[in-house]
Amino acid sequence: MSPAPLPFSPPYVGRLAPSPTGWLHLGHARTFWEAHRRARAAGGRLLLRHDDLDRDRCRAEFIAAAEEDLRWLGLGWDGAPLVQTTRRPRHRAALERLHAAGLLFPCTRTRRDVLEASSAPHESEPDDEPVYPPAFRPPEGTATPPLEERITVNWRFRVPDGRELRFLDGAAGPQAAVAGRDFGDFLVWRKDDTPSYQLACAVDDAELGVTEVVRGEDLLRSTLRQLLLLEALGAPAPQYRHLPLVRDEHGTRLAKRHDALALRTLRGQGADPAGLRAGFAAELGERPE
Ligand code: GLU
Repeated sequence: MSPAPLPFSPPYVGRLAPSPTGWLHLGHARTFWEAHRRARAAGGRLLLRHDDLDRDRCRAEFIAAAEEDLRWLGLGWDGAPLVQTTRRPRHRAALERLHAAGLLFPCTRTRRDVLEASSAPHESEPDDEPVYPPAFRPPEGTATPPLEERITVNWRFRVPDGRELRFLDGAAGPQAAVAGRDFGDFLVWRKDDTPSYQLACAVDDAELGVTEVVRGEDLLRSTLRQLLLLEALGAPAPQYRHLPLVRDEHGTRLAKRHDALALRTLRGQGADPAGLRAGFAAELGERPE
């Protein structure tokens, strides 16, 4: 008997999503090497998306530098690079749909208010946003104000309290968290009229047809938020593969120190890209090319 036809599975689309807030370092390089390897092994496409939402910290020179560093490392991508802020109308359209569905509320509390009143973020993810105190939510029955043309207040997504969310991560294994306990109502749009990372990332991954997201495990908790947004928007969720973070000899995450292990520093010191790639392959359990 011939085997049953496989259900339709869309062609693999992966993405590299650096934030142009600094030089790429060894941690980015290893994640991007894995994203590149997965896309090539699947015969798929790999997009390059510059996540430039943070107006204060992003600089054009880091966009150019990231492309140069990726090329030096031998990691190519398909098609023209995308710049996230150019997708703003799509982000705004998603915001309006979430608002129309009654899933958002405006929040005038400061970051400090939230920090002081909330339970501490998960210990293993000290950078994660604190759990938003339910007492700060507008009382039941309060009418939601309309969205301003130019937004001047923070908008948050109201999470379904007590709901357990699960997904199977391709690298980190089964993941579970309870909404309202492990993470709370999160920002979707900021009062400086910019979309939040969670909203922009979920919308872009879905609309660009990304089938697998490869990134660092510091974003595991963000994935749960993004899954809620995708569900609310009726968009398909990609597969996820969260990799352990690269740490230096003191156990410090490399993201904290862009200097010493920046790819351009290593390049200036004569590092060999093939050697770096072989090192990543050895660490991530694959045979070198
Ligand atoms: N641009 C984000 C960062 O550099 C990564 C986003 C992602 O991979 O979802 O932290």
